[in-house]
Amino acid sequence: MRPASPTTEVLIVGGGAAGWLTACFLAKTLAAREAQGVRVTLVESPEIGIVGVGEGSFPSIRGTLSAIGIDEARFIKECNATFKQGVHFRHWVRAPGQPGTDHYFHPFSQPSQRPGGFELLPYWLNGDAGADAGFAEAVTMQKRVADAAHAPKRPHDGDFLGPMNYAYHFDAGRFAALLASHAKSLGVRHLQGNVERVELDEEGAIAAVHAREHGALSAGLYVDCTGFRALLIGEALGSPFKSAGDVLFVDRALALQVPYETPDTPIPSYTISTAHEAGWTWDIGLQDRRGIGYVYSSRHTYDARAEQVLRDYIGPRSEGLHPRRLELKVGYRETQWIRNCVAVGLSGGFLEPLESSGIGLIETAAYLVGFLFPHDGALESTARLFNELMRERYARVVDFIKLHYCLTQRTDARFWLDNADPATIPQTLRDKLAMWKSRPPHRLDFVTDLEMYPPSSWQYVLYGMEFGTRLHPGAVDPARIAEARREFGMIAQMSGRALADLPQHRAMVEQMVRKA
Ligand code: FAD
Repeated sequence: MRPASPTTEVLIVGGGAAGWLTACFLAKTLAAREAQGVRVTLVESPEIGIVGVGEGSFPSIRGTLSAIGIDEARFIKECNATFKQGVHFRHWVRAPGQPGTDHYFHPFSQPSQRPGGFELLPYWLNGDAGADAGFAEAVTMQKRVADAAHAPKRPHDGDFLGPMNYAYHFDAGRFAALLASHAKSLGVRHLQGNVERVELDEEGAIAAVHAREHGALSAGLYVDCTGFRALLIGEALGSPFKSAGDVLFVDRALALQVPYETPDTPIPSYTISTAHEAGWTWDIGLQDRRGIGYVYSSRHTYDARAEQVLRDYIGPRSEGLHPRRLELKVGYRETQWIRNCVAVGLSGGFLEPLESSGIGLIETAAYLVGFLFPHDGALESTARLFNELMRERYARVVDFIKLHYCLTQRTDARFWLDNADPATIPQTLRDKLAMWKSRPPHRLDFVTDLEMYPPSSWQYVLYGMEFGTRLHPGAVDPARIAEARREFGMIAQMSGRALADLPQHRAMVEQMVRKA
């Protein structure tokens, strides 16, 4: 084996969100090394477009933007962005027309917690918030704030501050463009070129990628951000793709952009996810339009029927609009870093957009490439750690997404019956559900560093889907019931105050755009 030599050149192939976000992270992380000669180059095809449909995010995006140095107001203005306080799920628990609640909310704010780690969840399960109170409504103000289309924060002393956790909705094309211009300002070299061939050396590492316009391009580390094509990690290096199609069934998408009826139409500050006969629609409010799409299972419906479902959802405003069609490869590569090549983004995997895991997983991978960067050329040990961390993370995201489907009470379509079939639920998730029948989820159920979603997200979905947990004697301290009830009352009261205090979502976004 060749002795390790310092890594001084990085070549990123692909200029979608994955490529440019990795470029920004590396330019920032390696800035100190720049003087010693670490150079980051990104080559992207001028002919092959980016996938450009990811419009929802998770709150981790705020830390990412801040880490790479993009100001929030600039991001909101340039990406047509709005605030996302969570996901509102409709018809997931039961089909329209069935008696019972047909919606629930997954907010991004944590449940309120009393000092000393006193959790409200057992008391909510005990009925202390009232027989009809949903979990999210009982433990955080955020549901009421988001339901009333208020913003998660307000102007304060020339800045914007507020009590709610949030992420964003944004225009995916504009997001990639903002990242590109930012990366270039950080010193990333940009080439337009079509990579036609990947050359391997005698040890099976990448020796060069050959671009039609530039000839051979070589580097110490190659980052494959070529999207579903996976030109380097898949085609050239043969890393196997592990399909998740036996667990997560949706594999097609139809996407449309729908203008608002009037320029002052209120903008919801959550994604609306509505379940249908063979999948679900997303409905995302940006500043000047809605992004709406139907993701569905081709094993449970056919394309023309899916388009009808989408048009029925939108109503007359879909007339004259033609949806974009996408085929989705749902799954991931268990080995995402091989020798001198690492995959970030769709080339590494894709797990349907239900909880915006796409950008979130890119954030983690890009951060890790920067943090673990093999300055001294120790590629193998770095690859092993990266692969373990990413593989575990993907597997846990699969479980979290499946959680949304497998607890359904819907029996109106094969899609839902199949989703609730235990044979389609990973053993890791079945184990968790078995334990949570007799005790609520606890942070000790999760290895924090391997999870994309915090325990509270699992709790919101679990109890939003009406999962039943039988509390064992002693789970609730009778001496603290009164305290818990006071806290539930306080949360309801504070929600009223928050509504009076926080501006309407659209007004707040427009104010930030003016400020930028
Ligand atoms: P792409 O955007 O496909 O970029 C690939 C790049 O590689 C392009 O620049 C292309 O030019 C370049 N390239 C390809 N071949 C070559 C070549 N031969 N030579 C040179 N360059 C080449 N994520 C979320 O977080 N939230 C969501 O709400 C969400 N919704 C989604 C909905 C759908 C229907 C889909 C399909 C995805 C969604 N995602 C979502 C995922 C998200 O869109 C992607 O994770 C994200 O856009 C990153 O894509 P990428 O950069 O990996 O690939």
